[in-house]
Amino acid sequence: MRDKTLCIKRPEVSHEGFASLAIPTYRASTIVFDSAEAYANRKYRGPDGYTYGLHGTPTSRTLEASITALEQGVRTVLVPSGQAAITIVFLTLLMPGDSVLIPDTAYPPVAGFCENYLKPRGISFRVYDPMIGGGIADLIDGTVKLIWTESPGSTTMEIQDIPAIVAAAKARGVLTGCDNTWATPLYFKPLARGMDFSSMALTKYVGGHSDLLMGSIAVKDIELHRRLRDTMRMIGLGVSPDDCALALRGMETMAVRLAHCGRIAHDFAKRIQSRIAPGLVLHPALESAPGHEVWKRDFAGTSGVFSVVIPTHAEDALPDLLTAAKTFSIGASWGGTHSLLAPMTISRVTDANAHPGTILRISIGLEDENDLWADLEPIVDVIASERTMARTA
Ligand SMILES: *Cc1c(COP(=O)(O)O)cnc(C)c1O
Repeated sequence: MRDKTLCIKRPEVSHEGFASLAIPTYRASTIVFDSAEAYANRKYRGPDGYTYGLHGTPTSRTLEASITALEQGVRTVLVPSGQAAITIVFLTLLMPGDSVLIPDTAYPPVAGFCENYLKPRGISFRVYDPMIGGGIADLIDGTVKLIWTESPGSTTMEIQDIPAIVAAAKARGVLTGCDNTWATPLYFKPLARGMDFSSMALTKYVGGHSDLLMGSIAVKDIELHRRLRDTMRMIGLGVSPDDCALALRGMETMAVRLAHCGRIAHDFAKRIQSRIAPGLVLHPALESAPGHEVWKRDFAGTSGVFSVVIPTHAEDALPDLLTAAKTFSIGASWGGTHSLLAPMTISRVTDANAHPGTILRISIGLEDENDLWADLEPIVDVIASERTMARTA
């Protein structure tokens, strides 16, 4: 071979004796075949075969298999974001004339997708109270093809009765899915509880370092896997093997990070609750939390995100207190090593008494807990001040 060709055709090197603990990052668009016949037959390679980089490399398949094992499913599909993990399920199942039920506490862009993308295309949706449980049966008419859940709910942290919703759905032959981002399969396994789809924003705890965006959809029915893969192929979606390698690395420390962040978040939630009006701290492990009994029954732990309702008298002071925080950063998303504060406002369709003001979402990372508490204490002081004033008056 001549030099220009030698620049392209790599000499083979031995892999013998090379046993590494790291997962290699296999990048590819083209997959090559060793015969014209193998190329012609590539579409018969099945769900685990390799045909084109967009549809998987050994790196993405390793991440998929790891998530499948944790979720106790049969296959997992990787998508470019946690939001896509939800929309790809909806796009796969729903046809014009169909409808989907979503909880009032769903990750907010889900309702936006239903209203602004699905509805103009003839697919309707209905928002239900996350505490509805088996009462969801009353909302299932002939058009409902999917019931979506998210437990705990975004920002307000309500725990849903997943087994009761599954029972009602199965009785009517309706498929169900759960956004499992907060608990991760370490603390809750939706598929084992009867759900058909378990999605995660890997962006959060699996990635764990605020540097990648990805989502996963795990299923326990190989036919649903085929349908999801068909949607992905037709739309032209895939994920980067480099991001998969980051997610695999993140997953190695996930159990330790979750245990640590979960312990501190629960501890802080109890500490804050002891000082302010009851009901203002939203954390599933507190007895006052909506769905606490279901959480105790179904979940194996709590992760590091919870919320505090900011009462009216503390609203004005909050922006300066957030800006003054030294260890927490201000920002959306969560589940990384850096602790975050995010002032949120919610809108609820099913609850006329929903908190109208600010709710502070707190994501605990890996910094020293005393430094974190030093940032939170002045906020708690302001919230508690009215109570103190009331007591001393
Ligand atoms: C963040 C989040 C998502 C979306 O994840 P992205 O990767 O940011 O699109 C979906 N569901 C829940 C519960 C989330 O917290």
